[in-house]
Amino acid sequence: MKIAFIGLGNMGGGMAANLVKAGHEVNAFDLADEALHTAAEHGCTTFDDAGAACQGVDAVVTMLPNGAIVKSVYRESVIGHAPAGAVLIDCSTIDVATAREVISNAEAAGYDMVDAPVSGGIAAANGGTLTFMVGGTDKAFKRAEEVLQAMGKAVIHAGDAGAGQTAKICNNMLLAISMIGTAEAMKMAEKLGLDPQKFYEISSQSSGYCWSLNAYTPMPGVGVESPADNEYKGGFATALMLKDLRLAMDAAKDVNAKTVLGAKAAEIYEALAEEHGGLDFSSVIKTL
Ligand code: NAD
Repeated sequence: MKIAFIGLGNMGGGMAANLVKAGHEVNAFDLADEALHTAAEHGCTTFDDAGAACQGVDAVVTMLPNGAIVKSVYRESVIGHAPAGAVLIDCSTIDVATAREVISNAEAAGYDMVDAPVSGGIAAANGGTLTFMVGGTDKAFKRAEEVLQAMGKAVIHAGDAGAGQTAKICNNMLLAISMIGTAEAMKMAEKLGLDPQKFYEISSQSSGYCWSLNAYTPMPGVGVESPADNEYKGGFATALMLKDLRLAMDAAKDVNAKTVLGAKAAEIYEALAEEHGGLDFSSVIKTL
């Protein structure tokens, strides 16, 4: 398959390389020269114009920073530039309303399109083990699935247009809340004189069991190995968690959903990001 890939940053770079590894021909575009250079080393054909990269392709994949950029890239460089039969796949994390609007514009121009945000960070993007949550029609999903399988371990059809973004922000709001809760419980146990490792052993096998505790323990030297054991470097940056929480809070407002803990989590990550935006989000434990 011939695929245009736009946005070759921390995530997109590895994803485009995995499409090449799977035998696809990849036309790559990014605003940054360095990203283009790396893409060429990974076997992509590079372009200095996004519209030109979309000419004659079967699919377009985008992995961009935010909704405004996604909207402008589709309006200016994808729609009307990619052939009418191409399937369009936006893997960026953006707000639900913009995702729906871009898909609706693409469909009006005759394209099949899905929103397909990912779970998994840079390591999963490089390793081809991302989970894709996909929103769109059955037909668009089936067409996108073939492309996404080369970059991930799971491709799940969440529902109609925007459902992928909905799943992503609700999941990450839950993750933020559970990470803060895990960190509070571990610190409190420690302050009450309980060995944190004992607390981990007990709670990870009791009703406190959760991903933040069991698979991503936020305290150094306790539980499983995680970014905490590497001074909170790598992993999922606090700034990106804050981005997702802001998207979640905007969406909650749009539909009048009561998200008391989500709002508190956004406030806590807002403060953490001011000081340590680059550190893993589990570093929230350092503030307690
Ligand atoms: P990044 O900043 O490393 O990469 C974005 C790339 O897009 C950059 O190379 C930039 O030059 C390029 N770009 C910006 N505007 C462009 C334009 N108009 N045309 C072409 N290229 C353009 O970001 P990232 O970490 O790769 O994240 C990309 C998306 O994936 C974001 O929406 C993010 O929220 C999401 N995401 C990131 C992670 C993570 O761990 N990094 C995990 C899950 C989801």
